[in-house]
Amino acid sequence: MILTEKMNSTPALNELVDAEKLQLLFRQSYPAIFISIFNALVLTAILWSVQDHSLLLGWFITLLGTALVRLYIFTRYRKLLPQGQDVLSWEKPYFITLLLSSLAWGVGGMVILPVDSPLHQAAIFAFLIGMSGGAISVYSTHRLMTLSTIAILLLPVTTWFVIRGDMIFTGLAIASIVFFLSSIRATRSISSTLHQNLLMTHELKRSKEEAEKLARIDELTGLYNRRAFYELGKVLVSQAQRNKEPLAMIMMDIDNFKLVNDRFGHAAGDIALQEIGNIMCQRLRKSDVFARIGGEEFALLLPATTTEQAMQLADELRMVISGTDIRFGEQHFSLTASFGVTSGDSDIDTLARQADNAMYQSKDSGRNTVICDQVDNAGKAKPAD
Ligand code: GH3
Ligand code: MG
Ligand code: MG
Repeated sequence: MILTEKMNSTPALNELVDAEKLQLLFRQSYPAIFISIFNALVLTAILWSVQDHSLLLGWFITLLGTALVRLYIFTRYRKLLPQGQDVLSWEKPYFITLLLSSLAWGVGGMVILPVDSPLHQAAIFAFLIGMSGGAISVYSTHRLMTLSTIAILLLPVTTWFVIRGDMIFTGLAIASIVFFLSSIRATRSISSTLHQNLLMTHELKRSKEEAEKLARIDELTGLYNRRAFYELGKVLVSQAQRNKEPLAMIMMDIDNFKLVNDRFGHAAGDIALQEIGNIMCQRLRKSDVFARIGGEEFALLLPATTTEQAMQLADELRMVISGTDIRFGEQHFSLTASFGVTSGDSDIDTLARQADNAMYQSKDSGRNTVICDQVDNAGKAKPAD
């Protein structure tokens, strides 16, 4: 929570789009498993009078087996519900089980084909064409899957029709080839349109996230800005109140910073601000909120931290800053800063006001000090030991 993470860890958009397409596939192809079992049942009934029963049952059980494996993959996927790029690892199991199921239909259809009954052969062909049409609508998000499925479904029966060579079956084989060629075309436009749409959605989403992130970042130091500090501050205050944990705040203002600009130039001042932001960051925990809330003013919110611990940290920071040699080209200089510390379960604005008052007292008492807003017995604000 200290420095905003750089955006280079974000996954490639194309991978996110592929992952989303796979999610879509899982979502819309679940019913296809049951439709496949139902069709197999109907086809078994149609062929029951003309084909060997044990052959038909063997085919049906094989098909049922592939459907159950698919069902197992789907159930595991739904249970784990992977997100983002993790979805991509499910592509292989999905594809392999889909191919197995298609093989059970495409090659299995040949095994159960009654050689002496053209009518039943046509029935099998009708089922395979119907399943192929379904594949275009169900698997269209993944072009390779769609085309492989259709090829496996239709290739064996088409080849057999060609080999048979009579007029009607040659016609059916031609119809099957035409269907496959038109699927190549149809799947190209469906999958590329879908890909482009998803890509655009992700691009818009990412631009929005980046714009929101940038609105909360101080450009010079990469730290949170004032707006982010108060937003996160509200969250930390209510968290601390809920958990009944102490929450401390430190305000820090660089001493006589105007002189740095006057003496070494504005660019040197900028370098100094960046350097101070960096060295302070290194001494903070991940849970601390650190922001540049004004020109040379920084603020810190420290969850689960008592006043004493915050005073100690502020004093450490004070010493590190005053001991740092800031280089700017050939020139170098050092700086000091004044700190105000407060804690309590008040709202963020009250905490900020208290810490600010303490910081101004620190300025009044000669700068380069840490002062706590809580008064001691003599009625004076407490300086650091
Ligand atoms: P004090 O010890 O009382 O805080 O004195 P100061 O000089 O630090 O305070 P003052 O408010 O008089 O001056 C703050 C200076 O900080 C003036 C302004 O030019 C400079 N400053 C504010 N923002 C930036 C910035 O982004 N870059 C640079 N280089 N200077 C900045
Ligand atoms: Mg100052
Ligand atoms: Mg100031």
